[in-house]
Amino acid sequence: MKHKKSEKLYKKGLVNLVGAVNSPVRAFASVGGNPLFIKKAKGSKITDVDNNKYIDLVLSYGPMILGHRHKKVQKAIEKSLQNGYTFGASTKNEIKLAKIVCDAFPKMDKVRFVNSGTEAVLSALRLARAFTGKDKIIKFAGCYHGHSDALLVAAGSGLATLSIPGSKGVPNDAVKNTLIAEYNNLESVKQHIKKHTDIAAIIIEPVGGNMGVVLPKDNFLKHLSELAKENGILLIADEVMTGFRSKFGGAQELFNVTADITCLGKVIGGGFPVGAYGARNEIMEMVSPLGAMYQAGTLSGNPIAMASGIATLTELKKQNPYQKFDRIASEIEGFLLKSAKKYSVEITVNRFGSMINPFFTSDEVVDFKTAQTSDTEKFGVFFWEMINNGVFLPPSQFEAWFLSSALTKKDTQKLEIAIDKAMEAVSIM
Ligand SMILES: *Cc1c(COP(=O)(O)O)cnc(C)c1O
Repeated sequence: MKHKKSEKLYKKGLVNLVGAVNSPVRAFASVGGNPLFIKKAKGSKITDVDNNKYIDLVLSYGPMILGHRHKKVQKAIEKSLQNGYTFGASTKNEIKLAKIVCDAFPKMDKVRFVNSGTEAVLSALRLARAFTGKDKIIKFAGCYHGHSDALLVAAGSGLATLSIPGSKGVPNDAVKNTLIAEYNNLESVKQHIKKHTDIAAIIIEPVGGNMGVVLPKDNFLKHLSELAKENGILLIADEVMTGFRSKFGGAQELFNVTADITCLGKVIGGGFPVGAYGARNEIMEMVSPLGAMYQAGTLSGNPIAMASGIATLTELKKQNPYQKFDRIASEIEGFLLKSAKKYSVEITVNRFGSMINPFFTSDEVVDFKTAQTSDTEKFGVFFWEMINNGVFLPPSQFEAWFLSSALTKKDTQKLEIAIDKAMEAVSIM
């Protein structure tokens, strides 16, 4: 497989872009080689500038859950374009998307749209602090919540891949109110609560997706939500990745847990920049213009993005592909385990709905520490063999692979062959 044009563009891109990418997860730092440049995508496939076609398991890191350019979404966007791009005033579609989102989550009365997951989360923290009058936040090692200062500690994929312990440029003062607990370890949360009286919120990815897929064990979320409640602490569910992806109502619906504030992004924009945070009235009424917590956005609730979000969620609800996702993920798990056994490669596979990935370790992966026992060099070899066999994966051991409802039977057959070849390559490296 040739990547000549990608290589040429990469070199050109290095001149005026940082590392030729606009988000570090797109760099191929941890798998070696240079990033691919994409020309177009349709359905379950993506095509690079050298005209190589791949089954897309990146899906722009989650948003393209229906596959690329679904007919109905495309039509909605085109129709919206005819009326203008942005007005700095309210539109009917904002109300429509707000209703779809609020209806999907229990006890979400109101929502505020923003432009990214990062923005949704940083606003949710401000809201939790405004509501409780307290300052401290508990987050979990390996959970990623966007790139705002207070949350750039022990933050999963991008940082794990690049081995940056936090980030330069984040003042100590900005993280002094951030307490780090361990995922699936209730005791680590209790210890913080014992020591600090001024904790506003606990923020969590209900299913970890940014250290690879990591599931909550032994009713962890339920216990966490009870613990928060007993101590007057708000629970923030960061469902930017899992919202509408694992189930229409997100991971909270599946685990029967209701957070005080929910953060959304990715899927709700259907490929356009949309984030959101929502909660019950009592909390949301703190937000300006109803309340004293300020948060604003020139392009928030952008008409094109709203049209794309409405069309995507409406079609998603209609398709209800969640059983299909489970079935395909289970098939992929089977392919991985079968080939790993055949070539004596030690792996652990974690999956949740339409998110799945193998870890190159024999350890059970339940938190950031166990995720890091993975052999990332093996993943690098696996990754490139998958590329060469026509499968586009996230270029990091610590990212979930995403499934779209556009995947076909032929795609899964291709996946089986690619996985087998990639596993063989790992075994002889
Ligand atoms: C992707 C992601 C974010 C950040 O969203 P952006 O749109 O990239 O700013 C936050 N939280 C989680 C759980 C995510 O997966």
